[in-house]
Amino acid sequence: MQIQMVDVLGQYRKIQEEVDREVLKVITSGQFINGPWVQSFKANLAEYLGVKYVIPCGNGTDALQVALMALDLKPGDEVITAAFTFVATAEVIALLGLKPVFVDIDPATYTLDPAKIEAAITPRTRCIIPVHLYGLTADMEAINNIAKKHNLFVVEDAAQSIGSDYTFSDGRKGKSGTLGDIGTTSFYPSKNLGAYGDGGAIFTNDDVLGAKLLEICNHGSKVRYYHSSIGVNSRLDSMQAAVLDIKLRHLNEYNKVRNAAAAGYNARFAGVKGLITPHIPANATHVFHQYTVRILEGRAKRDAMQKALQERGIPSMIYYPVPLHLQEAYLSDACKEGDLPLTEELTGQVISLPMHSELDEAQIDYIANHFLECYNQ
Ligand SMILES: *Cc1c(COP(=O)(O)O)cnc(C)c1O
Repeated sequence: MQIQMVDVLGQYRKIQEEVDREVLKVITSGQFINGPWVQSFKANLAEYLGVKYVIPCGNGTDALQVALMALDLKPGDEVITAAFTFVATAEVIALLGLKPVFVDIDPATYTLDPAKIEAAITPRTRCIIPVHLYGLTADMEAINNIAKKHNLFVVEDAAQSIGSDYTFSDGRKGKSGTLGDIGTTSFYPSKNLGAYGDGGAIFTNDDVLGAKLLEICNHGSKVRYYHSSIGVNSRLDSMQAAVLDIKLRHLNEYNKVRNAAAAGYNARFAGVKGLITPHIPANATHVFHQYTVRILEGRAKRDAMQKALQERGIPSMIYYPVPLHLQEAYLSDACKEGDLPLTEELTGQVISLPMHSELDEAQIDYIANHFLECYNQ
């Protein structure tokens, strides 16, 4: 059986006619930048998310950078985030002359642990960036409460969690990425809503921030050739918007297949000693950007598992093998080895199995059986 980590072509084949027709329309229109496809996608995504402003941009990293730029932070200001994430989250903080302050994660959800945030707050702290890792929205209620108490901004890194629902204790519901001051996402091809190239978007319900984010993405300009601030050039092009607008209509169905696949893995891994399957809190839905298990035995066993699976033709990935505070570029006396015990432990235990919208039960069975055979060796 042929197994892929992600299957972008299998997904494409099912919508090929529509995508081909629309992409050809973009080409023959000549409106490659900011055409009607961008406006349509922007409006449809805003409606899907229930958010006032959607600002499309070049990629998920730009989205994070522009979000931070809109907050008017000063060099040396501190931004609290997780070290158990893709580098982009901390990269944009450092790039803007701000200081990333890493906080450990929650043992059940692998997202920022609210109980550990307050101890990391100093007079220079301005912002918290929770990362909704693997497709699960972080504990936004607790994070928003801490932010409110200390007058901090919250920027959600929702690159992996588009479509995830979150319910606050007062019953208020919202989509991942629309729960803080600003949310960001990525349309990198392998993401849950993936383009056929690069793309990203920024979300906010705040009128002032909405205008600022748009201005920054457009060279700091509100009126063409007049520049009121220093911005960047970050755009979603018409072809990507055309593809994304079609795929957005299938996003719930894609996330449903991902959930079914995850449930299939869970059922087969239930009760296996030393193997921890993903936890879903009662107030959030998971969109399984990744299906990631923890092998408690640790790095040697985990690495051996990956090798054994590979020999059987089953791909797997380690998200992420090195925590950000131990990456050469981000080494600092403020956060050393041993300071984030759970993050460090997890980097040696996690392994992500094939997860995408085209997985069927037979494939899940096949992968899970091989996984268990390797695990029990
Ligand atoms: C993918 C990803 C990004 C960056 O998105 P790009 O579009 O690749 O720039 C940022 N944060 C997280 C958590 C991601 O998974």
